[in-house]
Amino acid sequence: MDIFGANVFNNSVMKERLPKNTYRALRKTIDEGTPLEPAVADVVANAMKDWALEKGATHFTHWFQPMTGVTAEKHDAFISPTADGNVIMEFSGKELIKGEPDASSFPNGGIRSTFEARGYTAWDCTSPAFLHEDAGVVTLCIPTAFCSYTGEALDRKTPLLRSMETLNKQALRILQLFGNTESKRVIATVGAEQEYFLIDKKFYMQRTDLLLTGRTLFGAMPPKGQEMEDHYFGSINERVTAYMQDVNVELWKLGIPAKTQHKEVAPGQYEIAPIFESTNIATDHNQQVMETLQKVATRHDLVCLLHEKPFAGVNGSGKHNNWSMSTDDGINLLEPGRTPHQNAQFLTFLCAIIKAVDEHADLLRLSASNTGNDHRLGANEAPPAIISMFLGDQLSDILKQLQNGGPKSSIQGGQLEIGVNTLPSLPKDSTDRNRTSPFAFTGNKFEFRMVPSSLSISGPNVVLNLIVAETLSLIADRLEKAEDFHGELRKLLKEIATNHSRVLFDGNGYSEEWVEEAERRGLPHFRSTVDAVPALLLEKNIAIYEKHGVLDRTELHSRYEIYLEQYSKSINIEALTMIDMAQKQILPAAIKYVTTLAKSINTVKTAYAEAEVSAQTELLKDSSSLLAGLKQKINDLQSVTTQAKDLTDAYEQAVYYRDSVFTMMGELRQVADQLEEIVDANLWPFPTYSEMLFKL
Ligand code: ADP
Ligand code: MG
Repeated sequence: MDIFGANVFNNSVMKERLPKNTYRALRKTIDEGTPLEPAVADVVANAMKDWALEKGATHFTHWFQPMTGVTAEKHDAFISPTADGNVIMEFSGKELIKGEPDASSFPNGGIRSTFEARGYTAWDCTSPAFLHEDAGVVTLCIPTAFCSYTGEALDRKTPLLRSMETLNKQALRILQLFGNTESKRVIATVGAEQEYFLIDKKFYMQRTDLLLTGRTLFGAMPPKGQEMEDHYFGSINERVTAYMQDVNVELWKLGIPAKTQHKEVAPGQYEIAPIFESTNIATDHNQQVMETLQKVATRHDLVCLLHEKPFAGVNGSGKHNNWSMSTDDGINLLEPGRTPHQNAQFLTFLCAIIKAVDEHADLLRLSASNTGNDHRLGANEAPPAIISMFLGDQLSDILKQLQNGGPKSSIQGGQLEIGVNTLPSLPKDSTDRNRTSPFAFTGNKFEFRMVPSSLSISGPNVVLNLIVAETLSLIADRLEKAEDFHGELRKLLKEIATNHSRVLFDGNGYSEEWVEEAERRGLPHFRSTVDAVPALLLEKNIAIYEKHGVLDRTELHSRYEIYLEQYSKSINIEALTMIDMAQKQILPAAIKYVTTLAKSINTVKTAYAEAEVSAQTELLKDSSSLLAGLKQKINDLQSVTTQAKDLTDAYEQAVYYRDSVFTMMGELRQVADQLEEIVDANLWPFPTYSEMLFKL
């Protein structure tokens, strides 16, 4: 209780330190989005500065989330020189509200040329400022949005805030139709379960692939993987326990409600989950969770790997994005109700989500795409790359009833009749959960399980908020005009249940049959990131992004370019790293080994002509042929990587990286891993899977 939020300029600190009027004005801005007067900003900035100085801060920074995938900060000291050669500590409202970093080096997808490189960061007062403590240096971090000189979003926060706004507006329309005039806001809520790996730092430092790409590009399978299923929920050793507790304390100080932690399926794999919060804050907090996991690991001589697939052959990491909608007065809109009236409202929101997910599966799929996740989706460790929804037996049955024939007879107290009058209370325990479904209803929220472990959760939530806002708006359009509200609602829900039931699937999502069945149902199947990215340029998608003011055409084009560029760049770095390691580490080790064998044969034979050297000879034959194969594959990979560089169209280039470079990387790896299995362990140039996964 003492440490929770100690490093956050949160509501209670504001209340205590701000003059009443200022506090009220700021609250109004936070809660209702009204503009902040410059005079108010000055007072807030000053209070924030005093608070930070008392905590030992020397610097402040606008903390933002450019399209690099990591957060960015540029530190300014509070000092300001005075005429007599001293300094005072200053921080103005202007500095709080707006920053102007030279932003030419952030990804912008061609929006800006370097000569107009100015970018703006703008304070997001809905996410509280916090203190970073690194090596004893305390910095005040102000969450900000980042956009170009001409106003285009260059970050992950801006579209998220916009998507929350449109969801709020459309969901309120529905609530009003159901007679709720009390609730003032609808807030999308998110709880993100974060998976990660821990390995000993000394192994990490010896592996160029981990250092440069975050994953192992070589490595033969160890004799033991995850087949014993003894890691999941296993007891946590002391070293990791100490690490986790350190992480928790750091997070609690930052006001992040870290709650659960456990071992995951793969050896060396763990999970942490905080309690859900508003989407915006949950997203900022997830970034801080990832940073803290990595930062604290080094204190324990560990390294935290957030990559989706650090090790081939065992499970990779993802994030489960738990999502719901809540009113400002605490009503969870995905909580099935107890009265027929509440049920009708619940079913309306549920159907809106079903329609949204079915119609916009392409965007949802794209939102969970990155190079790392391409290794996981559809690989029997994560949901398939096909979007479907799991509702559970009872809700599925209710959907069927809606489809098959209007209302059941009884009307309670003259209220709505809608398919079913009272829902049975739905079980919230985990027994009937389908772990293979990418999008599962889990009692009072949806769990989007495709999200990559290293990616910001902003993207998936922008899409969720946007597509649900879109269907809610269509539903509201119809219901607001309807003369017979109940009749129209019945018709609408029946339509949705009928037209979109194809997206509902309760079976085993990992099976091959499902892939075929999904195809028969006409569900889209985007196997890789490159397949998914073009969705951003489809007119139907641009139209809804623009209709809801989330991203405009220019911004979408920019993101299209950025995603493809990032895809190509990361495969390129991986390929070059492989070439480097194969050339300078594996090849010399193999040559040494082959030479040792040859020498041994000669020496033994010279000593005793009749001696048996069949073991060495067989090994020499195998290893020298693998050695030749290795060199050949290095040459091949070099040549496709060079060719990829020459392609100028971003899409064509990404396709080439996927089909030629990535495929060739697999071939090179195969030969190298075979070599690892026979070469003398003392000669092998870097730590093995057994060491990395089990020596902790
Ligand atoms: P699991 O069994 O998947 O771990 P939990 O019940 O522990 O499920 O919840 C997982 C996450 O879902 C937690 O972060 C939790 O806070 C979050 N969560 C619970 N309710 C909601 C909600 N209404 N909206 C968003 N997230 C929620
Ligand atoms: Mg979960």
